[in-house]
Formats: sequence, C-alpha cells, structure tokens
Amino acid sequence: MTSTGKLLIVTAPSGAGKTTIVRHLLSTFPQLQFSVSATNRERRPMEINGRDYYFIATPRFRELVDNGAFLEWEEVYTDQYYGTLRSEVDRILKAGRAVIFDIDVRGALNLKKTYGDKALAIFIQPPSLETLIERLNRRKTEDPGSLKKRIERATEELTFKDHFDRTVVNDDLPQALAETDAMVREFLSDPRSN
Ligand code: 5GP
Repeated sequence: MTSTGKLLIVTAPSGAGKTTIVRHLLSTFPQLQFSVSATNRERRPMEINGRDYYFIATPRFRELVDNGAFLEWEEVYTDQYYGTLRSEVDRILKAGRAVIFDIDVRGALNLKKTYGDKALAIFIQPPSLETLIERLNRRKTEDPGSLKKRIERATEELTFKDHFDRTVVNDDLPQALAETDAMVREFLSDPRSN
C-alpha cells in the first residue's frame, strides 16, 4: 500500500467513540502509527506516559508552545492543554509510516488546513446529543463539574461536522468500524494523495 506521507485525522465530540475507532484502525492497518499528543492534564489510572500521551507539567507545555514545538495545540478544557508535537509527526513520517491522530475538532481542522490532500479528516458523529450525554455519563471518569464542561463542548463541536472530508455516524459500532475501514483503505491506497 502507498501510505507514505499520509495523515489520518480522526475527530469527534468527546464521547462519540473515536478512541475505540482509532484503536481498531491501528490494529487493522499496520502502516498506521498513533501520534502521541502532549498534555498537562492528570494521567488517568489506566494510562501510560508515552503511549497514551506525553504527560508534562504546565510550565514545560508553555515552554514548548513558545519554542514552536507544536503543529497545533488547544486549551480543550479550562487549563487543560493538548498539542501535537512536530517531532512526533516528523518521526512517524520519516519512518515511512502514515500518521493517525485522535484530536479535538479545532485541532483537526488546523491539521487538515496544514496538510490538505495528504490528510483525510474523519468526523465521528454520535447518533444524537442524548446518546452522547448518556455515554459520557456512563464513562464515569469525570467529576460532575468536568462532565458538564465536556457536554457543553461536545454540543458545540457537533456543529462543525460539515467541515470534514467524511462523517461516520457511530450508532451501531460494528457498522461504524466497517465504514471507517473502507474509507481508510481507499485513502491509504489512493495514489493521488501521495
Ligand atoms: P482526553 O482528556 O479525554 O484524553 O481528551 C480530551 C480531548 O482532547 C479529546 O477530544 C482528544 O481527542 C483531544 N486531544 C488529544 N490530543 C490532542 C491534541 O494533540 N490536540 C488537540 N487539539 N486535541 C487533542
């Protein structure tokens, strides 16, 4: 497959199931490598530094911003920063792999602007706002305050869906996975985006 230099951007409102989809794509397409983002938020118990994120302190994050180390970064929630490191993407592309990103909607739009046809930006859409709230509630990783923030943000992010190359409605997970697989297969084998 001709995957060199390609970037696959997967985005969604929080709770739409994008992490599940990204994990599935990683296990289906060996040429994909996950872009590990940097964040200043607290590590959750199951997370591993360097695998899920590079967990760094706020002053260091700011220093990296000032040094131009990020391709894009966002304050996704109040005082919680997330960013894509240039060094991470360069390393993956230099190794001849295609990059896969799991990032927020604004970051996804910025990366798409930077990479144009080299990138495929997929928006994962929850079947409804009610389902999304239900999923966020079920996850129970958040305290009530931060859950409320996530719901507000997700509601706003849903309005951006028409700005992406493709949309997948995540109602029935196996079907959403099959649809995404087909899109990614086509993109990775398309010689025009090389
Ligand atoms: P979480 O804290 O649940 O891991 O992630 C919160 C949100 O930040 C998710 O929507 C996730 O995709 C997004 N995110 C993760 N890494 C990045 C990044 O490097 N840049 C941007 N803009 N968003 C990110």
